[in-house]
Amino acid sequence: MPKVKTINDVDLEGKRVFVRVDFNVPLDADGTITDETRINAALPTIRKLIEEGAKIVLASHLGRPKGERVESMSLSPVATVLAGKLSVPVLFVDDCVGEEAEKAVNGLENGQVALLENLRFHNGETDNDPDFAQQLAAHADLFVNDAFGTAHRAHASTFGVARLLPEKVSGYLIEKELEFLGEKTDSPQKPFAVILGGAKVSDKITVIDKLIDKADVIIIGGAMAYTFALANGKKVGDSLCEPDKVDMAKAALDKAEAKGVRFLLPVDTLITNALDFDAKTLGETKISEGDIEDGWEGVDIGPRTTELYAEEVAKAGTVLWNGPMGVFEVEASSKGTFAVARAVAQSDALSIIGGGDSVKAINQSGHGDQVTFMSTGGGASLEFLEGKELPGVSILDQSPNS
Ligand code: AMP
Repeated sequence: MPKVKTINDVDLEGKRVFVRVDFNVPLDADGTITDETRINAALPTIRKLIEEGAKIVLASHLGRPKGERVESMSLSPVATVLAGKLSVPVLFVDDCVGEEAEKAVNGLENGQVALLENLRFHNGETDNDPDFAQQLAAHADLFVNDAFGTAHRAHASTFGVARLLPEKVSGYLIEKELEFLGEKTDSPQKPFAVILGGAKVSDKITVIDKLIDKADVIIIGGAMAYTFALANGKKVGDSLCEPDKVDMAKAALDKAEAKGVRFLLPVDTLITNALDFDAKTLGETKISEGDIEDGWEGVDIGPRTTELYAEEVAKAGTVLWNGPMGVFEVEASSKGTFAVARAVAQSDALSIIGGGDSVKAINQSGHGDQVTFMSTGGGASLEFLEGKELPGVSILDQSPNS
């Protein structure tokens, strides 16, 4: 895979640098940021740009304001938090384009930081409108993409603006994502265990197909497992499954067998006769080791499966995990997911968490600091693992020594 240039490869001093960051943070009703992970993830790149004396213009989206100014989705609270973390003032600019933005950007001294207002207050952002991209490009001499979570979208700030600037490179966050989701899974330390869970086979079948080429063992949990159970001729009762995707599941099982890749499915399942997702409760529960009766549904992997999966993880040289093992939002069916989270965190393997719910589960388990890498992209990590080109990455300049 060709390597992209990073901020280490370009001259930054005195340059106006447009940095696409991912400050799509969760806010509560009072506008207080409830999770600062995404702000923290952008700090190494911003600090480097400050050290190098760049004029730094940060841009991000927040939520889905759909082309309108929505005050509750303003990035202004982020500017305050960011200034505190960087210990330098952050100039907040009330719009991302227009006269005011231009004046603010052109007034920056070397090493100073400005944060533009939410890009998605303009439809031109998601439409990748050329005029809007041109207005963003007017702020900059150089483009830095450090927003992995939106790199799979060709928007004005991730793609359009980059096309208009002479130099475009990645920040440290994207560099790390590419290293772990790319290089480290292309030539993994063996054995390479891939754990996949979540709701649907259809969402992850392409990833499964790609990873069968690289993994030594594929480990399946979550509702996905029931479609594979159907493919093996088992009954799944009322479990969430995709009967129309049984052929896909069969093809994956056949491919794994042909390649000598072990494909592990649950040997026991926690089942319930009533799942109330909103009330976060289960009715009666029991452990099923074979067919699941009608009127019952699988909601988590069972204890034997949990033990087997943890043993596999302990033997691995590299572990990649994406997707919960059950309905982990409900405490009574969260054991399997949290046990896998613990096993992944405690193993000596290089551990890569592929974004989304698995990152949430690892953090909730209190073991977040023990994994090697947690991806900041949900959809973007999956598309990258599927082998798709990410527009926000493929637009970047390639490193001459790649
Ligand atoms: P995904 O977005 O595909 O990774 O799926 C995550 C969702 O899958 C979570 O909200 C889980 O509650 C759900 N999920 C996992 N296992 C099950 C299951 N056995 N039955 C129903 N939903 C499940």
